[in-house]
Amino acid sequence: MNLYEKTAHELHELLTNKKISALELTKDLFARIDEKDSEIGAYLELTKNQALENAKKVDEKIARGEKISALEGIPCAIKDNICTKGVKTTCASKILENFVPPYDATVMQKLNAQNIIMLGKLNMDEFAMGGSTENSAYHITKNPHDLSRVPGGSSGGSAAAVAAGEAIFTLGSDTGGSIRQPASFCGVVGMKPTYGRVSRYGLVAFASSLDQIGPLTKDVTDCATVLNAICGLDEMDSTSTSAAVPDFTKSLVSDVKNLKIGLPKEYFVKGIDKEVETAVINVTKTFEKLGAQIVEISLPHTEFAISTYYIIAPAEAATNLERYDGVSYGARVDGADVVEMMTNTRTEKFGEEVKRRIMIGNYALSAGYYDAYYLKALKVRTLIQKDFTDAFKNVDVILTPTTPNAAFKIGEMTNDPLKMYLQDICTVPVNLAGLPGISLPCGFNKENLPLGFQLIGKPLDEETILRAAFTYEQNKD
Ligand code: GLN
Repeated sequence: MNLYEKTAHELHELLTNKKISALELTKDLFARIDEKDSEIGAYLELTKNQALENAKKVDEKIARGEKISALEGIPCAIKDNICTKGVKTTCASKILENFVPPYDATVMQKLNAQNIIMLGKLNMDEFAMGGSTENSAYHITKNPHDLSRVPGGSSGGSAAAVAAGEAIFTLGSDTGGSIRQPASFCGVVGMKPTYGRVSRYGLVAFASSLDQIGPLTKDVTDCATVLNAICGLDEMDSTSTSAAVPDFTKSLVSDVKNLKIGLPKEYFVKGIDKEVETAVINVTKTFEKLGAQIVEISLPHTEFAISTYYIIAPAEAATNLERYDGVSYGARVDGADVVEMMTNTRTEKFGEEVKRRIMIGNYALSAGYYDAYYLKALKVRTLIQKDFTDAFKNVDVILTPTTPNAAFKIGEMTNDPLKMYLQDICTVPVNLAGLPGISLPCGFNKENLPLGFQLIGKPLDEETILRAAFTYEQNKD
């Protein structure tokens, strides 16, 4: 097996036993990127010199006989909306084309403290708005399982890189499904932690009450290991939680006996592809065989989740994106006066989808419409949260499809934004309620495209979904 195909925990063993060096491993990954990325397009920027330097330092440490951390020397890559000191962070937007952050996001500081090897920055939908990575201002990313299809989005580069062996693990961000949906489309593991578990400091804001950073990995063990590295209270993010961070690798136990798994009937309605439904039902059978109890539940406000999300997320986005005015942040396109300069800058440098969201958001927030749209959406959000609170009185985890269908064709939905938004039906309720959710691969459809399912946990209970996920992974046939 090639090194780039291995998991972080396998590579950690090889590094500690001196079977391989971090330099050799890093070079292997760059060779893979050279071979693959011209067709996949997962990366926006490579940081090769720095990566090779860092790998040498890890090797020196190993040579001195020092112990290395679980992620030390492991090659990874980062979504381009996470600030990396001295390395361009564009959010796949022309407006941040030349933005080089003077600081690291908290998650980067935490990963660097573990001496990870960052290979580069990954493609995404502009400002994380989208579900296909077709909204990148630079280039599209292709699904490694079928180059005529999208990898999902907005963390499409993050999912494609892991699936194609162009990074051992990656970080993505998830506002309405952007980690879990691409993970599902590319056949990898992706987790959105509980809102507040991971600091958002240095994550370029899309919709601040929904955004969360999380890992995309090849297996559940790596997911737990990366979570251990990135979670925790941060005084730089007032919404980060002070709840104790457990050792998530302790949840890697193969045991779901007596676990109560809820199957929400609203997630198995028309619009869900038959093959997806069958795959998810097979997952429930596996869980049942392993001693879990499957119970039908109801999340009655599910049908309002898309409209609620597509009011709240654009409203927050419109506000967050006001800062790109050609004055303090990002690119500037000159004009005769300040108003013309701002207009020119935003007209030329923002892409179509970003402009659409800004318009929807400002409309929903404007005087006269605020109560009818934004305020109402906030009320429905509370009802959606309450659905989950009620359901979790009777079950430990909730199981759903991650997406209504497998990866779609490039260009298939670009002219129909509404159809694209409907793709998010299974993932947005989890963000609206602030809950942890993980997407796991569960086989392939007839066209050989990966399918995924989602496990949703109680607030701050990543441990139970990790345990269930690990058990499934160990026992699936
Ligand atoms: N597809 C959703 C959207 O377009 C989710 C994006 C995300 O999670 N960043 O808003």
